[in-house]
Amino acid sequence: MTYICLQCNMAEAIPLNVVRNFDAMDNGDPMVPPQFACEECGGGMYPEYYKGLHGYEYKIIDVKK
Ligand SMILES: [Zn+2]
Repeated sequence: MTYICLQCNMAEAIPLNVVRNFDAMDNGDPMVPPQFACEECGGGMYPEYYKGLHGYEYKIIDVKK
């Protein structure tokens, strides 16, 4: 699946099973998807599209202006 940096727009492919593992270990806010840091600028990355283990859907268009 694809994560996109909210600061520099760089796209990074992250294996779905890696995201799932993060999601499964995450006891935090279910409204927030598993977080990764951009390798280019260190900014926060957001999934292009991801449906989490708890049924929440995360879309880049919801957070990006
Ligand atoms: Zn970046």
